Amino acid sequence: MATRKLYDIDAYMTKFEGKVIACEEVGDVSGKDNGSEGNTDVQGCYKVILDQTLFFPEEGGQTPDKGTINGIAVTDVQIKGDEIIHYLEAPLEVGETVTGEIDWKHRFSNMQQHSGEHIFSGTAYKKYGYRNVGFHLSDQIVTMDFDHPFTEEQLAEMEWAVNEAIVANVEVVTGYPSKDVLSQIEYRSKIDFDEGVRIVEIKGYDVCACCAPHVHKTGEIGIFKIQSAQNYKGGMRISFLCGFRALEEYRNKAQIITKLSGILTTNQEQLAENVQKLKNQTQTLKNQLMTAKQTIMESKLESIPAEQKDVLLFETDLDTPVMRNVVNKLVEQHEGICGVFVGTDTGGYNYIIGSKTVDCREVASALKEKLGARGGGSTQMVQGSVQAKAEDIVECVK
Ligand SMILES: [Zn+2]
Repeated sequence: MATRKLYDIDAYMTKFEGKVIACEEVGDVSGKDNGSEGNTDVQGCYKVILDQTLFFPEEGGQTPDKGTINGIAVTDVQIKGDEIIHYLEAPLEVGETVTGEIDWKHRFSNMQQHSGEHIFSGTAYKKYGYRNVGFHLSDQIVTMDFDHPFTEEQLAEMEWAVNEAIVANVEVVTGYPSKDVLSQIEYRSKIDFDEGVRIVEIKGYDVCACCAPHVHKTGEIGIFKIQSAQNYKGGMRISFLCGFRALEEYRNKAQIITKLSGILTTNQEQLAENVQKLKNQTQTLKNQLMTAKQTIMESKLESIPAEQKDVLLFETDLDTPVMRNVVNKLVEQHEGICGVFVGTDTGGYNYIIGSKTVDCREVASALKEKLGARGGGSTQMVQGSVQAKAEDIVECVK
């Protein structure tokens, strides 16, 4: 039996009554028939079908409404054919009349995002002939996909145009035109239907086939703001926010900027420049530190007698390029195994070992066998890490 879609009749209703047609225990989420994402915290154990509902199911890329039926949380809502299936945490009695209430804040936010998307898509088609080929609306993301990429200027222009349409506060009209009327009007659609098509018209901006609840007037969308745009499958994926979600995001960004401005004691206009300066300074300091360490290591090397065979150095902190330089210098001067180990007895060591007289791979194998070391390389040089004490490493290498 087809479920009567109350959200279709009035998108602003929040409470409704319905008769329980069926209730079936499904055990867990895996009892669901499709792999949809739905609401994320689904533990729903009962599949409930009512004669009518206000709950918009997961459909057309939009996640379902949230809310309760007889005070029981509705964890997911799916549509199969004409039937809307509610997933509930507890059972309802077949035949009883129940009261449902949707989470209005959540629903209205979805309406703001979805109506905003229609204005953008309608305008993009009119202005550039680019088609919307995908839409995703969940609590985490709001994205729309187009079959053609926009330039940065086009995106800025589009964003402005959508906000102008919002300010114009035009009517959004929904309905099911007859077959004849439908054949006369031009509308955007991802699928070709010939009957039962719900048309959402945003006067002067868009006409589109769509099953979702929309705002009555565009002014209710509040604001439309693009968050990011990436090239995607030859077209473009645009992430955006409308209304209160855009306000929340603005608050987040403003907080981050205020915090950063405080840390860097600068105004927001100079933030990027200041961070770049800091990055450059850090790199300069890193380079200077590396040079200083290299100098210290060189004077250390001079104090090792040239005739000494097998030189193993243990250091707490050295960059890999310095390690490599030191090993190269040791190998030039000394016979046997020359190695540099950087780290601590408790935290383990990274190593580079070189030699012109011994096969380094054999040394690496010994370290691996006796101390569980990792790494490898050539006969002249091996590199890796080992979790062991310095004295055990010395013992093993010798
Ligand atoms: Zn739509």
